[in-house]
Amino acid sequence: MRDDLTLFSRPQRITVLGSTGSIGVNTLEVLALHPERFEIFALTAHQQIDKLISQCVRFAPRFAVVPSPAAAEVLKAALTAAQCQTEILVGEAGLCCAASDAAVDTVVAAIVGGAGLKPTMAAVRAGKRLLLANKEALVMAGGLFMQTAAQCNAQILPVDSEHNAIFQCLPVGCNSLADAGVKRILLTGSGGPFRQMPIEQLPFVTADQACKHPNWAMGRKISVDSATMMNKGLEFIEACWLFNAHPNEIDLLLHPQSIIHSMVEYLDGSVLAQMGQPDMRTPIAHCLAWPQRIDSGVRGLDFLALGALEFVALCERRYPALALAKAAMRDGGLAPAALNAANEIAVEAFLQGQINFIQISELVDNVMQSWQNTEPSELDEVYAADQSARAGALRHLSQMRC
Ligand code: NAD
Ligand code: MG
Repeated sequence: MRDDLTLFSRPQRITVLGSTGSIGVNTLEVLALHPERFEIFALTAHQQIDKLISQCVRFAPRFAVVPSPAAAEVLKAALTAAQCQTEILVGEAGLCCAASDAAVDTVVAAIVGGAGLKPTMAAVRAGKRLLLANKEALVMAGGLFMQTAAQCNAQILPVDSEHNAIFQCLPVGCNSLADAGVKRILLTGSGGPFRQMPIEQLPFVTADQACKHPNWAMGRKISVDSATMMNKGLEFIEACWLFNAHPNEIDLLLHPQSIIHSMVEYLDGSVLAQMGQPDMRTPIAHCLAWPQRIDSGVRGLDFLALGALEFVALCERRYPALALAKAAMRDGGLAPAALNAANEIAVEAFLQGQINFIQISELVDNVMQSWQNTEPSELDEVYAADQSARAGALRHLSQMRC
């Protein structure tokens, strides 16, 4: 990670990729508190064009990006009626322009899933300050992603709350855990909504139950990932890349209250933890202002009201997705990209009611069993692996549904 303490002498220009999602909306809330520090350059949406219209009218970005000419027509009519000057860009090319334009300082990567990889990489190649929420992009292309960031002098700041916590608990500019005297990283997770449900009942849970996380309000895909704990698996891979960590240097720990967001243990026995409300505006504000601090709008912790913080051992049998993710990281190469692609198909199928909850991990396992792994030397191989694993997952899905 680049150790760059340059402060901005004018408002930072920000592109928010995925501005209509949960992270996107939280980001805009923090930005709105600091109009003197930040200027919004571009906002993007995939489906909720109505939400994008109101965001454009409120924040007047220079560009807005939509997925299709039809969506552009709808947006254009609404913006003209509101006398809003925002220009409209379309499709993946539009997303990449919004992420890499020379006028942009900072890109918030908050598109969900593999769809975020190209625009996120465009920001990395253009040497931007990248606030990374889109963990799937890093999972898919970790090696190439970090290598390109180093070559292009892009600065990656982790928005994911656990990684943001670890980042805050490490010394500034830490490139080597060993040199920093780190013994291990403790990646915490709440265990999701089904932590205490009898395992035999898991096949019968509904999508709405899976999306009702006990502590966090998030988009539906990451909510399901949190229930299977594939999210923690993806985060394990994300942490390996972000902190140049060997898988053996990261331990997972359940902490049901989500007040500690992760910890770093040092050789001398010290353990540093980052704590705060389970509210993404805190890590977002931390990244936006880094290395300074700004108000996020989040209230502080009331320790007396909190009472005890619990820590619980992880039951791997309840969360088979975790072992799949760890194995993909150990296999390396394109295995994490295949895992991610299969998981995206499986989660969508679950959300659509085509498979049950435990079949999410079964489907991913099926794809990984027959995966022919290789090492990618360029990004096109990652996209090809993504497509191939999606096709494999769809084949398995059609057999499961029969
Ligand atoms: P979300 O579903 O609420 O929002 C996703 C955003 O991506 C929306 O703006 C949507 O329009 C856009 N999008 C979806 N498909 C797209 C496509 N094909 N092309 C272009 N844009 C597309 O998701 P979220 O919960 O905000 O999560 C976003 C990312 O942040 C995910 O990678 C997630 O893992 C990560 N993350 C989220 C949280 C959280 O609290 N929500 C926490 C940590 C990390
Ligand atoms: Mg997280």
